[in-house]
Amino acid sequence: MTAETIFVGTELLLGNIVNTNAAYIAQRLAAMGISCYYQSVVGDNEERLSKVLREAIDRSDLVILSGGLGPTQDDITKDVTAKVLDRPMYLDEATKNRIEEHFLRRGTDMPENNIRQALVPEGAIVLENDNGTAPGLIIEHPVLSVADSKEGTRKIILLPGPPLELEALWESKVEPYLKKNSHEVILSSMVKIVGRAESEVAEICADLINSSNKDVTVAPYSKTAEVHLRVTAKAADEKEAKKKIKPVVKDIKGRLGDSVYTTHEETTLEQAVVDLLLANNLTVTTIESCTGGMVAARLINVPGVSEIFKSGFITYSNKAKRKIVGVKKKTLEKYTAVSAQVVSEMVSGIPIFNLNRADVAVAVSGYAGPDGGTKEHPVGTVFIAVNVCGVISVKEYHFKGSRQKIRESAVAEALILMRQSILEYYSRMMSNPQE
Ligand code: ATP
Ligand code: MG
Repeated sequence: MTAETIFVGTELLLGNIVNTNAAYIAQRLAAMGISCYYQSVVGDNEERLSKVLREAIDRSDLVILSGGLGPTQDDITKDVTAKVLDRPMYLDEATKNRIEEHFLRRGTDMPENNIRQALVPEGAIVLENDNGTAPGLIIEHPVLSVADSKEGTRKIILLPGPPLELEALWESKVEPYLKKNSHEVILSSMVKIVGRAESEVAEICADLINSSNKDVTVAPYSKTAEVHLRVTAKAADEKEAKKKIKPVVKDIKGRLGDSVYTTHEETTLEQAVVDLLLANNLTVTTIESCTGGMVAARLINVPGVSEIFKSGFITYSNKAKRKIVGVKKKTLEKYTAVSAQVVSEMVSGIPIFNLNRADVAVAVSGYAGPDGGTKEHPVGTVFIAVNVCGVISVKEYHFKGSRQKIRESAVAEALILMRQSILEYYSRMMSNPQE
């Protein structure tokens, strides 16, 4: 099955709103192993929408439209679709009642305009929308003879534009529908990698990514400081799909070693770090400057972190670095706050705050910009130090982008350096137990 998506709305073309629905649907289709070959954005214009829709129906088995299902005159998606498919509309009583109830619950009568939302093209499957008034619609449309395309049934799915409504309908109705109507099971696993560039991963796994084996596909995605490889298998049943995925994931892990921090879609980097701390019974503290608490915030995202996270410090000024975590005045003067020496002292000074003695300490100090920096250390320079039971690792980074992007990159790298330092600490202990 090949899919394509159409996003309707002049405000999307003008850049007034960001097309987050496009990313959402694209990711969900990819996760289901459905290939999406085209993505269009079209304004609220009947002629142009008709043209785009006709082309889509001509070349794709599944066409998903988002937006333009509201009650106003510029919401034309449903009318245009009904015209293109040559299906008359009828008033769906159940939908009308639902919309009336929706307004009653808000203490008002249904405005006259909203009755349009209860009009449904003949033969459509109506998807009840629990978060708004416009229902979603699925139309199974036979295509008898269309130039350049195979004959068969097209699935055309209409979804409301507001992301909350679209996502809820997708999860509760569309995805189950697509799964039920597929003759095969599609399963995927996400191999998440840190400490390697996307190009390096792509090179190491080139044969898997470019493989002509359509039963198991491997596709790379990059995220701040991470690379993900999605391994997707199609099979007749779940057991067989799992059997196909397993050796490929094992193969990737063999090639990339410790760079792989999880093979589970839902496991985040912070979850992996917290799991590692918990498994080794290590408490942690954070001492942050330019990241302003974001490292602590990501760790605290993880349920169960209270077992090991005792406290975090934001030591933004030099004075705070001196008074709270014991960085020496001389070190600050000689090397400045953005230096390897200062972050090392930030992770060593914690015991002066006896209350907060932790097994692992992480410190971040850098120039997030847009102003600041020095000739030697321009904006984007960040130093990160990690102390694991007295063994300190320090690294210097040079990030690019906005202030926010630099800070996000620093947070991700801080988590990565924590993970790497803990793994190295234990592997050294194993090879040198008397240390
Ligand atoms: P409504 O009943 O709210 O009018 P609708 O189905 O007619 O819903 P639109 O009018 O196209 O949808 O968009 C309504 C709002 O939904 C937009 O103002 C925008 O906030 C959001 N929206 C629409 N399309 C997208 C999109 N592709 N990505 C992200 N948000 C979107
Ligand atoms: Mg609208």
